[in-house]
Amino acid sequence: MSEDKIIDGKAFAAGLRERIGRETARLKAEHDLVPGLAVVLVGENPASQVYVRNKARQTAEAGMRSFEHKLPPETGQDELLALIDKLNNDPKVNGILVQLPLPDQISEQAVIDAIDPDKDVDGFHILNVGRLSTGATGASAPLIPCTPLGCIMLLKDRLGSLSGLNAVVIGRSNIVGKPMAQLLIRESCTVTVAHSRTRDLPAVARGADILVAAVGRPAMIKADWIKPGATVIDVGINRVPVEGEDGKTRIVGDVDTQAALEVAGAITPVPGGVGPMTIAVLLANTLTAACRQKGIEPPEL
Ligand code: NAD
Repeated sequence: MSEDKIIDGKAFAAGLRERIGRETARLKAEHDLVPGLAVVLVGENPASQVYVRNKARQTAEAGMRSFEHKLPPETGQDELLALIDKLNNDPKVNGILVQLPLPDQISEQAVIDAIDPDKDVDGFHILNVGRLSTGATGASAPLIPCTPLGCIMLLKDRLGSLSGLNAVVIGRSNIVGKPMAQLLIRESCTVTVAHSRTRDLPAVARGADILVAAVGRPAMIKADWIKPGATVIDVGINRVPVEGEDGKTRIVGDVDTQAALEVAGAITPVPGGVGPMTIAVLLANTLTAACRQKGIEPPEL
C-alpha cells in the first residue's frame, strides 16, 4: 500500500526530459533553433561541482547546447559581471544559470540583477519574481524557479486540481518557500507560509492538505504533524552520518518519511522525489526561454 503513496519524482523527471528532448528535436527541425544553456560556476564547492556536471550532461542529452564556465575561487565581481554581459549578448545562449552560493567577495544580488530576465532560467531576477507574484501571462509570463515549479508539477500529476486545498509551506526562502507559496496561490490553494518564528508549527502543519517542507533540518516533520491523507512534498536535502559506519553519510529529507507514510496520502521520498525534478525543470525553462526569445509559442510539457 505504501508503494502507491510514494510520488516517484525520478520517473516523472525522466518522462519530462524525454518530452523536452522531443520538443527540442522539433524546434531544430522546424525552426533551426537549438536552445543553449550557460552554467557558470565560481570556485570549487564540491556539491556545486556535482550539480554543474549533472546539468551539463542532461542538457546535452536533451539535445541542447551546454556552455560551462568555470572560474577560480578568487574571481572578482566585475569579472563575473563582464562574463554575464557577454552571455546576455550571445544569441546561442538562451538560458543563464550562475551556481549559488558565490564566494564572499561577490554580491549574489548584483549577479542576479545583471542577468537578462528573459535568460534567467533560475527565475530569481526581480522582474520574474514580480511577474510570478502578479500572475503575469502571455508575453510577460515569468520564468519560474525550478524546484518549486517541479513540486507543483508533481502535485498536479498526483492530485489533479489543487483548487481550494489548504497548503502549508514551511520555509520562506527566495529560492523555494516564497515562490512555492506564489505558485500554490496561482493554483487557488489557501496558503500559509510557516518559518522559524511560527508558533505551534505542528498544529499549523496539521491543517495542511498539501504540506511542503523546505527547511533543511533532517526528519524535523513527524507523523503527528501530518493530517491523515495529506500530500507531503519534502524539498529538504540533508546529509547525515550513517549510524555505525564511520565517516559514511546519506541524504535524508526534512520529513520523517517512514513514519509519515503511515499517515500521509502521498509523499515524495528523499532521494528520488523533488531532487531529480530540479534539473529537468531547468531544461524545460531553457526550452521555454529559447522559444520566447524567437517569438515561438513554447510547447506544453
Ligand atoms: P534556507 O536555509 O534559505 O531557508 C530555510 C527556511 O526554513 C527559512 O525560511 C527558515 O525560516 C525556515 N526554518 C529554519 N528553521 C526552522 C524551524 N526550526 N522551523 C520552521 N522553519 C524553519 O533554505 P532553502 O534554500 O529554502 O532550502 C531548504 C531545503 O531545501 C534545504 O535542505 C535545501 O538543501 C533543500 N533544497 C533542495 C532543492 C532540490 O533540488 N530538491 C533545491 C533547493 C533547496
